[in-house]
Amino acid sequence: MLTIEWSATEGWQAPLIKPFGNMSLHPACSSLHYGVQPSLGVKKPGHALLYVILCQAGSYFNNEAEALSLWADPKYTRAWEGGTGDCKMGGNYGCSLLAQYEAVDYGCQQVLWLYGEDHQITEAGTMNIFLHWINEIGEEELATPPLDGIILPGVTRQSILELTRKWDEFQVTERYLTMSQLCSALKQQRVREMFGSGTACMICPIGHIVYQGENLHIPCQDKNTQLTSRIAKELTDIQYGRIHSDWTFLV
Ligand SMILES: *Cc1c(COP(=O)(O)O)cnc(C)c1O
Repeated sequence: MLTIEWSATEGWQAPLIKPFGNMSLHPACSSLHYGVQPSLGVKKPGHALLYVILCQAGSYFNNEAEALSLWADPKYTRAWEGGTGDCKMGGNYGCSLLAQYEAVDYGCQQVLWLYGEDHQITEAGTMNIFLHWINEIGEEELATPPLDGIILPGVTRQSILELTRKWDEFQVTERYLTMSQLCSALKQQRVREMFGSGTACMICPIGHIVYQGENLHIPCQDKNTQLTSRIAKELTDIQYGRIHSDWTFLV
């Protein structure tokens, strides 16, 4: 684990790499990650500790991962304008657990978070969401909702956008997507793939969405042609230094 101490008087100290044994708060403590227990601080801190757990990049990605099932019900809202949904803040996660349990009751693995009267598709669980489809005007497009304050600006999301824009093979767009657009695209067989993105899973295909009493089947492409495998391979190749990228720095 890499640790760097900070104090108001001394500023940042030299980085240290050490085992986690001596930490007063174990780094696996859930409150340090998704802040599942929301606590209050009412004073400017005098000390801080930045730590980074060093692990094999991409080690969580499971190539054989089953496609996810999502439960979409507009009665729950993950984030709203003027709120904190666009920050990695503890309070966002504790209150999402109720919906998560309900998703499991409906036989789904995670929640598809909708927003607004028009049931905009925003995020899946704690992942950003992407739709690869033929859009309303017949163009092949990879789309994800724009960063308008209710979307967490994930680094995996940004990496996928930059990577696929560099390929220059289809439109890559930050745009609003609604459930009705998705439903009509599914009926007209214009959906190629849908997936979530985040550091934990990297990229995770979506197989089903339960919405308004219907079980929507989302197509998944063949393993060899699917976008999810191609993006995952390219991202891990960059992380392991197998291909050259200006995203990697020698430290
Ligand atoms: C962490 C998180 C993501 C993914 O962000 P990454 O930086 O790619 O890991 C997406 N949405 C939510 C709500 C998150 O908490």
